[in-house]
Amino acid sequence: MSPTVGVLALQGDFEEHITSLHRLGADTREVRTEAQLSSVDSLVIPGGESTSMAKLMDVYALREPLRGFARSGKPVWGTCAGLILLARRLQEDRPEPLGTMDTVVQRNGFGRQVDSFQTKLDIVGIAGGPYLALFIRAPKIVEVGPAVEVLATLEDNTIVAAREDNILVTAFHPELTTDDRVHEFFLAMAAEASTR
Ligand code: GLN
Repeated sequence: MSPTVGVLALQGDFEEHITSLHRLGADTREVRTEAQLSSVDSLVIPGGESTSMAKLMDVYALREPLRGFARSGKPVWGTCAGLILLARRLQEDRPEPLGTMDTVVQRNGFGRQVDSFQTKLDIVGIAGGPYLALFIRAPKIVEVGPAVEVLATLEDNTIVAAREDNILVTAFHPELTTDDRVHEFFLAMAAEASTR
């Protein structure tokens, strides 16, 4: 049986992730409850608004189950707000992150003038030339622990994609483009985990 990919569907652009994953033939499920979480083999935490998503996580009692899911070694990919929620610590007071990845993150790290921008990135592990990445009120990863592998940086060395074992994060939004290479990369992580 092919592994099932869950997409956390509390808030944000989960439908766009599902569309990208379907283009690649993945079996996906929307996840809103602990029972749904326990029925999937990997999980995408989408972009959106991290404070709202964190509130809903508490309303749906998903915080501990999500931590347990990540600790169990199942692949988790956070895009933008998802990256914020997976951090060990934020530079801001809110929201309280899950603390699953050894990163320190600054929300809205690019300031007002460049709330949104796009740029071509070389991403470790992704072949086929530069990847056009869309940044929307994106966070910056400002510190990483020793076990974190940096996968992509901007020209000024800002870290915008990283991996720590089973956890992948991107500050940009692959679900808002039709270049599905980052989704493919995550599905490869999921396929590898399912054979362990
Ligand atoms: N700025 C948003 C936040 O802090 C994240 C933006 C996004 O996911 N596109 O939650």
